[in-house]
Amino acid sequence: MAKNIQAIRGMHDILPDQTPIWHFLEQQVRTVLDSYGYRELRTPVVEMTDLFKRSIGEVTDIVEKEMYTFEDRNGDSLTLRPECTASCVRAGIENGLFHNQVQRIWYYGPMFRHERPQKGRYRQFYQIGAEAYGLSGPDIDIEMILLTRRFWESLGLDGLELQINTLGTPDERAVYREKLVAYLTEHQTQLDEDSLRRLQSNPLRVLDSKNPAMRELIAAAPSLLDYLGDESKAHFQTLCEGLDAAGVPYVVNTRLVRGLDYYARTVFEWVTDRLGAQGTVCAGGRYDGLVEQLGGKPTPGIGFAMGVERLIVLLQERDNPLQLQTLDAYLVLVGDTPQKQGVLLADRLRRELPELRLLCHCGGGSFKSQFKKADRSGARFALVLGEDELTQGVIGVKHLREEREQEQVALDSLADYLRDMI
Ligand code: ATP
Ligand code: MG
Repeated sequence: MAKNIQAIRGMHDILPDQTPIWHFLEQQVRTVLDSYGYRELRTPVVEMTDLFKRSIGEVTDIVEKEMYTFEDRNGDSLTLRPECTASCVRAGIENGLFHNQVQRIWYYGPMFRHERPQKGRYRQFYQIGAEAYGLSGPDIDIEMILLTRRFWESLGLDGLELQINTLGTPDERAVYREKLVAYLTEHQTQLDEDSLRRLQSNPLRVLDSKNPAMRELIAAAPSLLDYLGDESKAHFQTLCEGLDAAGVPYVVNTRLVRGLDYYARTVFEWVTDRLGAQGTVCAGGRYDGLVEQLGGKPTPGIGFAMGVERLIVLLQERDNPLQLQTLDAYLVLVGDTPQKQGVLLADRLRRELPELRLLCHCGGGSFKSQFKKADRSGARFALVLGEDELTQGVIGVKHLREEREQEQVALDSLADYLRDMI
């Protein structure tokens, strides 16, 4: 027999047992975004490869080795999106969204990166992100961080730590970069292979090394904070004051960097120690030069992206476990006439009570086997319709999740009864 075809390594099915927790997350996040006036933008999952080369930058991990790039039948080089900011900017320029207007948008969907799969790191993974264009901050920087704090509150997640930093302006960074390169060159023998490569291509990224052997060297490196101009300093200070005023604890982590020239000033991450090495659940920053770099008019921008799979793990391990009910009632039908009538009854109930989640048993079988299925379905009660009930015009209600006597309810008033129950 032929070998079964399996999903691609690092890409996963999200099974029906798991989707309720995804729906919970999606709904909470959407409600928070709505409450801040952000609107959703949906873009294609495939873009021209050049879009990512020009936006993410040639010397990043993503573009150097993680992109799913292929030629389509016309010979165009296309890429499965590894992130969504580039697409947002492309769509914004293409549709004139940045002309004399402020945009607050969000997106949600799968991203693709060819990296080594491990817990919290996949080749297809979901991100939810938000971006604001046309505002140079720091008020919007504060809003974005408060928005992310609302997510954790509404999801019931605690123990996340906010880390912030400032990258100054590209000019300020250029001066700093020289000092950093001088320092790293002086200690070249202590650099690992990745860092040696980055020293040439993108030295700021050395600060982001996850190698514990490099920790001391990095800790002693010059700090960008010492090279900031007055405006950048004031921006950062206002950000910190805003967070203090809102009661958001944070840690200034001067090693938090993004390697690219279009980044400016504010960067932040929410991290947890519950996910091992994959501890960042949300990463954001200001990218004032990006719209211009992709051919638009200079437009400031700031945004963040959250890794949904990592948040799902945190939700599954919540101290106060989530109880997600997906079904209210399971209709058990015993006998020929009940089986015929049951489908119609169920249909009528759903119409009368649109919020009712009712599963109608199909395929016959004994009372015992149907009742077992009702119990396993997770429904709160079984509605039992047999020949006797039908002739009497009633239905049996068995409470599956609480100690409570079985009841008989007149079919005519069943919808009212259920309305009070759910
Ligand atoms: P890392 O340093 O962990 O590789 P990154 O800098 O590549 O992260 P971003 O591009 O900033 O990550 O993406 C934002 C968020 O998306 C990350 O903080 C993480 O939560 C999530 N994420 C990134 N890559 C993956 C992946 N391969 N699998 C699952 N989630 C991911
Ligand atoms: Mg990465």
